[in-house]
Amino acid sequence: MSNFGWDVVIIGAGPAGSATAITLASLGQRVLLADEQSVAKYKLGESLPPASVDIVSHFLGDLDSPDSNAIGVYKTAGNISTWSSEQQDHADFFFTAKGFGLCINRLAFDEALRLHALELGASLQRGISFDSCARSSESGFNWDIFLSTPSKVEHHRARYIVDCSGRRAVLGRMLDIPIVGNEDKLFAYAQWFSTEMEDDDYFTRIEAVANGWWYTNRVPTSENKQNQRLVVFYTDRDLPDGKKAASPEGFNGLLRETAQIAPLLQASAYEASGAIRGAPANTQRLREFCGDAWMAVGDAAQAYDPLSSQGIDKALRTGSHAGHLIHYALTDEVDNSLKFDNRFIQQYSQQQQQLWDSYLAQRNYYYGIQTRWAYQPFWRRRQNNSTVN
Ligand SMILES: Cc1cc2nc3c(=O)[nH]c(=O)nc-3n(C[C@H](O)[C@H](O)[C@H](O)COP(=O)(O)OP(=O)(O)OC[C@H]3O[C@@H](n4cnc5c(N)ncnc54)[C@H](O)[C@@H]3O)c2cc1C
Repeated sequence: MSNFGWDVVIIGAGPAGSATAITLASLGQRVLLADEQSVAKYKLGESLPPASVDIVSHFLGDLDSPDSNAIGVYKTAGNISTWSSEQQDHADFFFTAKGFGLCINRLAFDEALRLHALELGASLQRGISFDSCARSSESGFNWDIFLSTPSKVEHHRARYIVDCSGRRAVLGRMLDIPIVGNEDKLFAYAQWFSTEMEDDDYFTRIEAVANGWWYTNRVPTSENKQNQRLVVFYTDRDLPDGKKAASPEGFNGLLRETAQIAPLLQASAYEASGAIRGAPANTQRLREFCGDAWMAVGDAAQAYDPLSSQGIDKALRTGSHAGHLIHYALTDEVDNSLKFDNRFIQQYSQQQQQLWDSYLAQRNYYYGIQTRWAYQPFWRRRQNNSTVN
């Protein structure tokens, strides 16, 4: 078994893991960023509001430079939604301080963040999975960490460990921290569409329906000149529409009933390409976000309903915050005895609690104003939200 020593081991190289690694590596910490995926085939989540532009630039540089094409980012104009009534509601980003939002090619975006962490000196291991960890008896380290590939188990030691494994929160679960606030069964059914025709719509379209809601975005493509759209239906997985949406016939049947999205696709002769992909999209959080020599960052700490469009922003911001606090904790160790100052843990925990509270208030507000199908199970379940605080 191999044997390695680090200041910080980060489990998961999504946006949260990379942002934490970039922050720590730029402050001079020895960081290992480990992800179980060798190559991702697809990933959902591509809209960022105007308020996120600066944090994206902080990590990836000037978005107006020609290089930003390589990371698959383009500017969006706003949201057009049919939500609380049949009337279309326009939220035009032109009237925000930034003037535009972002739509990203998710695989290219996540990879650009990982490569930036590498450039700054972090080590990146792909195709290696977190198995377990235990308190270390080795002087100078807090954790023994076991990572595995199909052919071997590696033993790493670290002073700090960070859970950036997304909704699976593998470290949190291993440490027996309960996952709470996850009563909803929201699930995403996603289908890519492509066309040779023009499509110059730069708005995100959102549409509430009897048992869920839809959204579509044009997505940046690099491999060919066809226009591509991602169309996603959200409903509770246990409802009949959830079962329907999993098959192409059922998905298309539900799509045909939409007032805004189906006509948009027809107008540019879009055709479905590839399989329907699914992903959990429920709200959840760890009961504790951090503890002695560990933190959870991004979706591992708290995962949001995609209606919020806040997941990537939160992953980047909390990655930066966690990275700084871990650096302070590591440099402030009391007499090198590896006893960390609790101030940093408390500060991180308070920040996470504030994020959770404001997310819940916002989510409950938006589900609360949609009353057109108040007696349908999807909406009834969301009228009196009582998610755990
Ligand atoms: C359908 C859907 C639509 C969304 N739409 C949007 C949107 O429009 N805008 C937005 O801002 N957000 C959106 N989100 C949310 C956004 O995608 C997430 O908030 C974001 O990806 C969180 O980043 P993360 O790094 O915390 O987790 P992830 O991106 O999930 O990364 C976790 C990483 O951990 C790795 N991992 C897991 N287990 C292990 C293990 N045992 N060992 C090693 N590695 C492991 C995984 O391979 C993965 O690479 C959406 C989410 C969903 C599901």
